[in-house]
Amino acid sequence: MKHFDVIVVGGGHAGVEAAHVAARLGVSVALVTLRADGIGVMSCNPAMGGLGKGHLIREIDALDGLMGRIADRAGIQYRLLNRRKGPAVQGPRAQIDRALYRRAMQEEIAATPRLSVIEGEVSDLWMQGAAVKGVNLASGVRLSAAAVVLTTGTFLRGEIHIGRERRKGGRMGERPSERLAQRLDDLSLPMGRLKTGTPPRLDGRTIDWNALESQPGDEHPEMLSFLSGAPAVRQVSCGITHTNARTHDIIRENLHVSAMYGGGITGVGPRYCPSVEDKVVRFAEKESHQIFLEPEGLEDNAVYPNGISTSLPLDVQERLVHSITGLEGARILQPGYAIEYDYIDPRALTAGLELRAAPGLFLAGQINGTTGYEEAAAQGVVAGLSAAQKAGVACPIAFDRSNSYIGVMIDDLVTRGVTEPYRMFTSRAEYRLHLRADNADQRLTPMGIACGCVGEARRCAFENKLEKLEGARGLLGGASFTPQQLAAQGIKVNQDGRRRSGLDLLALPGIEMTVVSKLIPQAGRLPAETSRQLQREAIYAHYIDRQRGEIAALKRDEAIGIPETLSFKGLSGLSNELQDKLERVRPATIGQAGRIEGMTPAALTVILLHIRKTSRGEIAV
Ligand code: FAD
Repeated sequence: MKHFDVIVVGGGHAGVEAAHVAARLGVSVALVTLRADGIGVMSCNPAMGGLGKGHLIREIDALDGLMGRIADRAGIQYRLLNRRKGPAVQGPRAQIDRALYRRAMQEEIAATPRLSVIEGEVSDLWMQGAAVKGVNLASGVRLSAAAVVLTTGTFLRGEIHIGRERRKGGRMGERPSERLAQRLDDLSLPMGRLKTGTPPRLDGRTIDWNALESQPGDEHPEMLSFLSGAPAVRQVSCGITHTNARTHDIIRENLHVSAMYGGGITGVGPRYCPSVEDKVVRFAEKESHQIFLEPEGLEDNAVYPNGISTSLPLDVQERLVHSITGLEGARILQPGYAIEYDYIDPRALTAGLELRAAPGLFLAGQINGTTGYEEAAAQGVVAGLSAAQKAGVACPIAFDRSNSYIGVMIDDLVTRGVTEPYRMFTSRAEYRLHLRADNADQRLTPMGIACGCVGEARRCAFENKLEKLEGARGLLGGASFTPQQLAAQGIKVNQDGRRRSGLDLLALPGIEMTVVSKLIPQAGRLPAETSRQLQREAIYAHYIDRQRGEIAALKRDEAIGIPETLSFKGLSGLSNELQDKLERVRPATIGQAGRIEGMTPAALTVILLHIRKTSRGEIAV
């Protein structure tokens, strides 16, 4: 029997990040996955990032994770979403060449010290009592470890639906994970079914591109990784088309044979990523829906029609595709389909993504009820860090709602659970003016350096950047001007006698560094990226100062721990419903307890008083 410090099951987006971060921390890692050549496969859309998701990629990157760097080796079109809005809600996004991404990811994993890839199916967990000690492979091999991370995506009892046809599968062309799902049943975990879907893939050579609007990338691409300077490969445009009345008629006439509408699927789907059937039913008043035609790669003829995810039968998919302008003669290379799979209620997890009922077993990715590559990858980082800690590495990173979208997502999952596949949005973050994609490195890289998961190259690049930023902040913050001096330069401010620094000026609408440099000539010689960063910071400085009080209150509540042994059952002053919820979530702090749905200030006071009494020894826990 071979021993590893950490075993990661699954080579998807959660799995590679979990395995890589644990290896970066110095422990030995086995990445066990059904197919070694499936590492880095993108099951659905050929794109990464976007609103909220781009923030997650930058945070993974800030901790020296893989997704941003690898995506930049394969990015074929870059667009900063919400470019015209404030930096807090802008999301970097890129179209990705699937084959390049997969190859680059496999090369990176193969080159990672202490990380071994084992091809095989994990069919069972090896347990001693409740604790997980390793895994058994279907081949009969047993591996032992201090921690096991499951990242099996949509594979647990996965079932693919195309119209009325259903077949077992983890995703198209791959078998599901049945035995492991049964093993999890034995642990009596709270489990449920979710579903998601994907559109048909089209042969780009059969699309009439001349009939379509073209969407190029940004003139000045925003890279996904802080370490990347410019795109690595040729850039391409996407096409845009629309559904129409005929498309909608075809869909309406065939709803009864759609897997999702014909009653074939019971799992809940993502509201924010609806199928085209959903769109036609839910937004019946809309006459058309936009479709982006996204190339899947530079050397690949496949095109992903983003916007028409469907589980209609293939012949109906053909008719609906052919009803759309530019797609009249398009050939379907792979039908669209829906997939239904098991997930585990994430309220069964700690904030480190460890199952409370099975110490040593960590879960990350779609298995926790999320959807999306970025959400999966970010959980992979958390679970990989926690698993390495279990294996004895001291790495004190605490994600919370005030320091990261990662913290927001983990807290949402473990405190509130999911009612549909969870995806990230900027609106989920209370402190989004502070949690921006542009400052993810300033928020997280120092924590990553302290914990040991950030390598030398990134540490140097970050420290260099910070030195320039701090110099520039000193320069602009150290010079101040009276309203008369400003008026002389054509800068209109209230004539209130208050001196304003260069940083204050940058916060004024329409004032850019070129204007400030008339007053502070050295500012005109700052590197372009440093100037842009100061400008972004200045816009929100005032609001962020005001938010500090709220963040301090959050931190105070997060600092009051609730003993693991405290029983909420029978705690007088708490309703039965709240007792049940508290037992299910088992909040680690008063702050977390406060975010449980239905929690009241009075109930929190009951818990606080109980903690105080037990800590004074007045009552036993
Ligand atoms: P995956 O990327 O699925 O990786 C799971 C890995 O586990 C695989 O490598 C597999 O080989 C391995 N594995 C499974 N069982 C075992 C076992 N027993 N032993 C060893 N290895 C095992 N996301 C969106 O954001 N928007 C969408 O519209 C969207 N639509 C989707 C549609 C479909 C049909 C599918 C399949 C996925 C879709 N996704 C979508 C989701 C996206 O692909 C996932 O969220 C993401 O890939 C999840 O990453 P993961 O690491 O959790 O799992």
